[in-house]
Amino acid sequence: MPRFRINKIVRFETAHSLGRGYEGNCSSIHGHSYKAEIGITGDVLNDQGILIDFKVLKNILYPVIEELDHAILIDYTDRDQDEFEEYLSKRGQKICGIAGNPTAETICLFLAEKIQNGIAQYSDGFDPDVRRRGIRLDKIKLFETNDSFVEWFHE
Ligand SMILES: [Zn+2]
Repeated sequence: MPRFRINKIVRFETAHSLGRGYEGNCSSIHGHSYKAEIGITGDVLNDQGILIDFKVLKNILYPVIEELDHAILIDYTDRDQDEFEEYLSKRGQKICGIAGNPTAETICLFLAEKIQNGIAQYSDGFDPDVRRRGIRLDKIKLFETNDSFVEWFHE
């Protein structure tokens, strides 16, 4: 069992609508002020007594959050959305592609993949010790509203 989990909270404003036969208010475009708690675990500290520097974690998370912030989420696997995506692109709207209906669950999967890639790139490029010390993304808790959230866990 990992001995430490460090956490960082990030926030982003994003618009989405739920398609694929979803019926309800969320089928119209609307926005949320999302909050995500990102948890990184590991069991061995470095020589400075740090699992992973909060600053390093911030640098890994920043480009991922930047993709989502003030973007309109589009399900890029849904060909029915192509025309809508083209419409938005032509008007200079910021779009972020999500695999599947852009729910809090699929946004978690988007975050998980990008953050895991970010940790791997940091390890490969700057600090191979990160991988050796078993540091990995452990948990994402994504709040869509103040009282509704989804949790993703590393298997
Ligand atoms: Zn919504």
